[in-house]
Amino acid sequence: MNAKSLVLTKDQIEQLYALSELSTKAHRNNLRVSQGPEASSYREKAQAYKRTKLRLEALGEDLRALEDERQGLEKDLNSYEAQLKVSKGRLEHSTGGDFRSLPALQVEIYTLESKVGEYTDAELGLMEQLEVLGRERDLLEIEMKRELQDALAAKEELEALRADVAHLDQTLQSDIAKLRSAIEPDVAALLERVPTQIIDKVAFVIDLSCSGCRLRISSILMDRIKRFGGEVHYCEECGRMLLPERDLVQ
Ligand SMILES: [Zn+2]
Repeated sequence: MNAKSLVLTKDQIEQLYALSELSTKAHRNNLRVSQGPEASSYREKAQAYKRTKLRLEALGEDLRALEDERQGLEKDLNSYEAQLKVSKGRLEHSTGGDFRSLPALQVEIYTLESKVGEYTDAELGLMEQLEVLGRERDLLEIEMKRELQDALAAKEELEALRADVAHLDQTLQSDIAKLRSAIEPDVAALLERVPTQIIDKVAFVIDLSCSGCRLRISSILMDRIKRFGGEVHYCEECGRMLLPERDLVQ
């Protein structure tokens, strides 16, 4: 059947409008779940939690690296301290017979004492950093737990909305199915020409523009609509079915 030759009756136009309205309602209804404030709130909160979790993991790695460094320092420090003890013991027990080696031993003790001082300072510095990072980790852990609670609460809210919407959608879909089955196959076939991604399949002309995409209708199409007002036309921009104006319907 040639679409151009089909002239819609008033009832058919009303059916198409009703179907388009119901479809749009069902579409908006479902969009509320994926794009509504509940969904974005959940997304934001889940992201905040993940960000904090990652920061916490990075902080944990820094802490472990610092702790390794501190343990290495401590090992060296213990070894210097042990050497120092031995050298000091040698100095104490050195008896008069070995004067020549005494200055060398004193230099050795001096060197070891500075090493011990240097390594003690370094270890204290590391311990201070560990304490600062540890406090930061404790605070982040509290923050992460709070963010997790927030994200779970937002998820629950979204799930409740999803259930409500699904319930509403069931009613809408059954209304759509009823209406669709009431529409004559010839007329329903006209709707199939509209791109599938377009939910509200029908539009009409307002101020020389398509009410669906709001773009201006070309003068060629406008001319055809004026000459064959009762026929079905499609918007050249969005593909929606442009319904004839009601007063042109026979
Ligand atoms: Zn359009």
